Amino acid sequence: MIRGLFVGRFQPFHLGHLYVVKKLLEKVGELIIAIGSAQYSHTFKDPFNAGERIWMIRSALDAELDPRKYYVIPIPDVNDNRIWVAHVESYTPPFQIVFSNNSLVKVLFQEAGYDIEPSPLYKRELYCGTDIRKKIIGNEKWEHLVPENVAKIIKEIGGDKRLRGIIKKDYVYDAAEIDSNNI
Ligand code: NAD
Repeated sequence: MIRGLFVGRFQPFHLGHLYVVKKLLEKVGELIIAIGSAQYSHTFKDPFNAGERIWMIRSALDAELDPRKYYVIPIPDVNDNRIWVAHVESYTPPFQIVFSNNSLVKVLFQEAGYDIEPSPLYKRELYCGTDIRKKIIGNEKWEHLVPENVAKIIKEIGGDKRLRGIIKKDYVYDAAEIDSNNI
């Protein structure tokens, strides 16, 4: 049985992520969904904490997939890329293949001797975490871009208000500025 690793921040888990997880589970017997940057929350880049992200992912997947097929494991970042792969391994069961489109993730796992495969992209122009967060802040429609249960959870935890609150009240909303400041 081959076990694969799929790393992301999932801020939030959207329909593109859901598509990928289903596709990857056609290729491997089990999939580890590793939630990176697990120690962060309440920033524009990482608004939801690790437990909230686990809840969102499980709620989206349990509706469609056998929960014995996947693990959702939070992994805090470390301030040293050289030891990150060993750090990931210390949180997970063994895996044989890594799926990623993130160039740093690919280089680090390649250097550690893992097989790497790109993960398929699904309507990236539509399903993109940064754009979804910007839509939430801008009071635009975003609910159709995430699984139904994820939209419910974001509302239940006041995630939409949290994101708008992170951007200061006297701040003139400017998506380009948010990007460049990485708020
Ligand atoms: P992300 O949530 O932005 O993306 C996760 C995956 O989803 C990516 O492979 C991306 O290609 C895919 N995806 C996005 N939109 C998609 C769509 N529409 N259709 C299909 N797939 C789509 O996460 P990320 O930022 O790439 O996550 C990498 C994590 O690894 C981060 O948390 C980073 O901090 C961590 N990391 C940490 C270290 C360290 O601590 N030293 C080093 C490297 C990486």
